Parts: sequence; C-alpha cells; structure tokens
Amino acid sequence: MTHQFDYDLITLGAGSGGLSIVERAASYGQRCAVVERGDIGGTCVNVGCVPKKIMWFAANLAHVIDDAGGYGYSLTKNGFDWGKLVEKRERYISGINQWYHGYMKELGVDEIEGEASFVDANTVSVNGRHYSARHIAIATGTRPRVAEIPGGEHAITSDGFFELEQQPDRVAIAGSGYIAVELAGVLNALGSHVTLYLRKHHVLGEFDSLVSTTLLEELAKSGIELRTNCEITRITRAASGRMVVEDNHGVGLEDVDQVIYAIGRAPDLEGLKLENAGVEVNQKGFITTDIYQCTNQSHIFALGDITGRAPLTPVAVAAGRRLADRLYNNQADRHLDYELIPTVVFSHPPIGTVGATEEAARAQYGDRIKVYQTRFTAMYNSISGHDVPTAMKLVCLDEEEKIIGCHMIGPAVDEMLQGFAVAIRMGATKRDFDDTVAIHPTSSEELVTMR
Ligand SMILES: Cc1cc2nc3c(=O)[nH]c(=O)nc-3n(C[C@H](O)[C@H](O)[C@H](O)COP(=O)(O)OP(=O)(O)OC[C@H]3O[C@@H](n4cnc5c(N)ncnc54)[C@H](O)[C@@H]3O)c2cc1C
Repeated sequence: MTHQFDYDLITLGAGSGGLSIVERAASYGQRCAVVERGDIGGTCVNVGCVPKKIMWFAANLAHVIDDAGGYGYSLTKNGFDWGKLVEKRERYISGINQWYHGYMKELGVDEIEGEASFVDANTVSVNGRHYSARHIAIATGTRPRVAEIPGGEHAITSDGFFELEQQPDRVAIAGSGYIAVELAGVLNALGSHVTLYLRKHHVLGEFDSLVSTTLLEELAKSGIELRTNCEITRITRAASGRMVVEDNHGVGLEDVDQVIYAIGRAPDLEGLKLENAGVEVNQKGFITTDIYQCTNQSHIFALGDITGRAPLTPVAVAAGRRLADRLYNNQADRHLDYELIPTVVFSHPPIGTVGATEEAARAQYGDRIKVYQTRFTAMYNSISGHDVPTAMKLVCLDEEEKIIGCHMIGPAVDEMLQGFAVAIRMGATKRDFDDTVAIHPTSSEELVTMR
C-alpha cells in the first residue's frame, strides 16, 4: 500500500529557489505547496537584487547628469527625493509580490503562510498544523550577519538599508564584498558621505585582481573615504540619535546617521528543526547536498543560498528547475553544473566576471596559462570628462588558448557578459574570439580584438 501524503512536493521558502522548483513541478502535474514566513519572492525580490538594482539605476542617473556637461548640456541637480524613489521602488516590488500570488494560484500551488519546522522526515508543521509530502525541498536562504561589537545593535544590514525612508547624509559601511561596494557606490552617487571600512586592504577578495584593484581605485576617486586594514570596534549613539564610530586604529568618525554592516550572510536554520528529519549540515552550517541537490535524506533536497554554493538568484532558479525536471519529468541526470557561473557586481563602474581568476588559474595550471588584458577609456567617458576606466582580461589555457576566465570592469560590462558567458561555456578559444567580427564602436569589441 502506498503512503498517502498531502502533497507530492512541499518547498520551504518562497524565494528564488523555492518558487522555481514548485513552478516547474506544478507544470508537470505535481501537487505542490510552498511555505513562506515573509514576503513571497524572498531575498531577491524584497531585499536583494530588485531593490538594489533600482537604487543602482538611480545612482547611474546621478552620474549621467554629471557627465552631461561634457556633452554640452548645462544641467544641475535640483535635489534628489529619496522618499519618492523608495515609494516607487516598494510599489514596484509589491506588484511583483501580487503577480507571484496570482501565478501560484494559477498553477494550483498552495501557499502556506508561516514558519515551517520539521516534525519528521516527511512532515512539516506551520502554525501548529501538519503537512506531509513525498518530497521536501529546503530553500530557506540566508540572513545578513550582524555586527558583534559593543553598540552593534545600532547598526543595520542590507535589509535595514532597504527600510530607510530618508537618505542618510553620513554613512559608515563595514564590508568588502559585493553588497558593501554596491551600497557604497549607490549612496555616494546619491550624495551621502560614505566611509567604507575594509578589514584588509582590498575589496572583492575572491575576484580577479584586475577588477578588484581597479574598483578600489575608483571607489577612492569617487570620494568614498576608504579605511583599509580597519575594523569598527564600537558604535555609540548620542542623545541626538546620531552615532560615533570607533575603530581599531583609534580613529573616530562622528555624526554618523547610519552604520551598515555588509559582512556576509549566514544560514538561518534554527527554527527549522532539521534534527527531526535527520538532515545534516556542514561545518559552516549550510545544508550539505550532492550534485543532484540531494541531502543525506534521499527524498529531502536543498537548493539556493542555504547550500552555501554560488549564492545568486539565477543559480537557485536553475537548481530548482533542473531538480523538478529530474524528479518529475524523467530527466534522470539533469542537474546544475556549478562551473562557469557568470556574475555581475553592480558597483560604479560595474564588474562582470566568469570562470577562473588569473590567480587561481596560475595556481592550478602554472605556465600553461596565457593572459590577455587591456585597459582604456571608453569613448563615452572620453567626452564626458569623467575618466572612468574600462579593463578587461581573458585567461586562456594551453596552446589552443581555451578561454577559462573573463573579467571586466567598466561602464556597460554588466550587459556585455551574458553572451560571452555562453561562448565560454561552449568552450570558446581565443581564436574563436579573434575570428568573430567586432561591433564598432563599442567597448565590447575590445574583447574580440585583444592582442
Ligand atoms: C542586497 C543583496 C543584493 C543581491 N543582489 C543580487 C544580484 O544582483 N544578483 C543575484 O543573482 N543575486 C543577488 N543577491 C542574492 C540573491 O538574492 C540570493 O542568491 C537569492 O535570493 C537566493 O534565493 P534562495 O531561494 O536560496 O533564498 P531566498 O531568496 O533568501 O528565500 C528564502 C526564503 O525562505 C524563507 N524562510 C526561511 N526560513 C523559513 C522557514 N523556516 N519557514 C518558512 N519560510 C522560511 C525566507 O523568508 C525567504 O523568503 C543579492 C542579495 C542581497 C542580500
């Protein structure tokens, strides 16, 4: 006799990963439910990619207005209405939330509101009610790490940044990862005074040195105050509400109205009671999965940020869709290949990168690596009078010069990378790039004309 479950699949978390798997599973006729304790869409839609990109667009406009003088315009910024932008941004997000609710309904996916915890390996409890399923997918994401220093409670994280109703005029940001540099660039362009605290002397430590050093120079040039090899040690809030920030160099920063911690994200599994289902986590607290997104329990899967691998929305989406294809559409070997995942940092200027850094490639292959690189000022910036650099690097392997890494920083590289990532994934060589006729005049043509 087969066991009767309430659902074929329950997904825990309605973020990028959770929604993608239920969507695909429902399209294959599976009876699905998704449990969410917050807003549908998860981090990406509500406090991640979407609101971040809107703020980035606003910051770009500030740069364009500055550039316009070089093109003969006489423009002045007559103020910037933070409140208006935030209101429009939140309205846009709430439209996406509503759309998702409608879409789930259309697909016949049940939405269960509340915090899920495991009762046993096939059952979860939400608000005291039990729901059972043949398969359970954990896609509960991560949470921003908070400041663990005296006065740390006065600091906010990226979540708090998206709650700001007023523009802060003096901000301290701690962190050197992509979220820290993105928020620093946005706030600086919109007119806040930004001090960026870097624990070491660089930003984007995992990235190719060409893009990370170029970005560091640009952050300094843009007016962001960089405090390198420096950590905030204490935050004190005065009666006025403004803060004093102390650091390990004994230097203070006064009259700060927001301190933002962007020091990484951590799994948030406490409430889930994984022990009731016997699901294992690794030393860093992420859920261990194999290449098929299977946990140590064969019918329980994990995907997205909670697996600790390539924490990006399209990665969570791709993993979820492939898992549903495998489980419910007879595609036995379907799984996500975590190699060659392209990614963009929405800094000012943006960064686009895919594949091995020169440093990693040389460590692995030594002299078998050949690197091509270029640095120039794009035509747009030559006229605008703001000398923003563009830098590009191709990392090639062996005599055939297979391209195993591509790293770029500069205006428009965010929209340049996707197509090149397809070619690189297909195994393109430097010769293939050289044989591709350039598009002129663009910055991207430099990638196919490098010598
Ligand atoms: C500021 C910022 C900017 C970003 N920018 C980009 C970008 O430009 N490009 C990009 O690709 N990625 C970006 N990301 C990363 C991206 O948002 C994540 O990789 C993506 O959201 C991961 O999806 P997920 O499904 O794993 O988790 P999430 O989207 O985090 O969804 C997890 C969901 O699970 C819910 N949940 C957790 N525990 C429970 C529980 N016990 N019961 C019920 N529900 C639960 C949470 O409320 C949440 O809604 C950004 C992230 C941040 C923070």
